[in-house]
Amino acid sequence: MHGQYIKNTDRQFFSEEDTFLSLWKRDLKAENESEIVAAQNQALQTKYYATKILSTETDSTCKLCQQFDETIDHLISACHILAKEQYIKRHDSVCVQLHFNICKETGVELDKKHWHEDVPKSVETSQEGKVTILWNQ
Ligand SMILES: [Zn+2]
Repeated sequence: MHGQYIKNTDRQFFSEEDTFLSLWKRDLKAENESEIVAAQNQALQTKYYATKILSTETDSTCKLCQQFDETIDHLISACHILAKEQYIKRHDSVCVQLHFNICKETGVELDKKHWHEDVPKSVETSQEGKVTILWNQ
């Protein structure tokens, strides 16, 4: 399964340097980096992997939606069961971190020290009133 991620990537829109540097610049723990690379290579224990690679199962269908092969790509972005709640939670979590960082960069005072503790207000304004940041509008 090594190299699946690279093979499946559209070379026209892909920068190997930017992609891999973004992983290694973040001080990731080795086990987290290992799981990310395994997911990119489609080498995590999914039903598709168990059926097609390990031959330990006979049905590769997603256990949640039971409509498509349970691949990493399907679980990450294409399962309509996960789309109802889990993808939205993931999206909102990324946006909370972005909101937190934008507030810090623009001088908006926040109550919390860490992004994961922050609960964004619908409108934030910098101390000078020059910047207004809207949340979920
Ligand atoms: Zn599914």
